[in-house]
Formats: sequence, C-alpha cells, structure tokens
Amino acid sequence: MAPISFSVAECGRLEKRAGVQEYMKYWAYLVAKLALAGLFLYRVGRSLPVLLPPPKMRFYTGEPFGHDLVYTLIMFVYSLVAAGVVWLAIWDQRYRCRTCLRKLRMPILTGDWTHILLGRPRTEYICPFGHGTLKVDEVQITGHLAPDWQPHEDMWKELVSLDDTKK
Ligand SMILES: [Zn+2]
Repeated sequence: MAPISFSVAECGRLEKRAGVQEYMKYWAYLVAKLALAGLFLYRVGRSLPVLLPPPKMRFYTGEPFGHDLVYTLIMFVYSLVAAGVVWLAIWDQRYRCRTCLRKLRMPILTGDWTHILLGRPRTEYICPFGHGTLKVDEVQITGHLAPDWQPHEDMWKELVSLDDTKK
C-alpha cells in the first residue's frame, strides 16, 4: 500500500488531469460545433447553384458575381448567413459552463454605473450545478475585455470544510 503522502500527490495529479480533460472537452465542443456549422454552410453553398442557377449572361461570359444584381445579392446574403452562423456558435460557447457545458443561468447585475472605476457594472452568470461563475463586464472602455470565469470548489467539499470550522 502506498504511503499517504504518495496517494495525496497521486490524487492531486489525477485532479489536475481531470481539470485539463474538462478544459479540453470545452474546446472540443466548440470545434465540433464549428465543424458542424462548416458542413452545413458547405452543403448550402453547394446546393445554391442547383436551387438558383447562375444567370445566362448575354454580353459577358465570366463570373456573374458583380455583374448580375440578383446573383450578387444572393452571394452577399449567403456570406452574411455564414458569418452569423459562426458568430452564433462562438456566442453560445461563451455562455456555457467550462466544466459541464450546460448553459449558464441566473444573470445578476452587480456594481454600479456611477462607480466606473471601483465596482463597475458587471453581469454574473452561474452554472446551475455550481461549477463556477462567469463575470461579464458591461463597460468595455479599454477595448474588449474577455469574460472572467471563476471555477468553484466542489460544493460538498466546501460544506464539509464549513462544518469542520464550526467544531
Ligand atoms: Zn457546470
């Protein structure tokens, strides 16, 4: 049987590895979503010429883009839809738990608009299973601020430690 100090070290290593695996799961989910979006957009892009065949040009025999109004508009709308789908995938990812990938809930507005320097307004979201809190700044004066994710300790561990301090 391994001495306790060894098993504690092993336990810490396992915990760290579990944390890395959860982190990888989060990014793998984003990659999978983007791959699915890419596949969808590719299929739509491929079926566009079938649904709306390129127009027969009378005096010009090149690419109709930029020469035929309807065709050009359709291509513009398609590129807008493509950008929208990718944006939606990333936006959805930002408001997901980094541990269990569930949608974060219960937005609470903290801080105050009259205290921009100290206690600026933020919206806090939490995971329904208590894995962590996401703090999103409402004021983005100094450029884009990435949302701040703070993982929580295990709920049961915290409860037990509270109980121990009472004794
Ligand atoms: Zn969670």
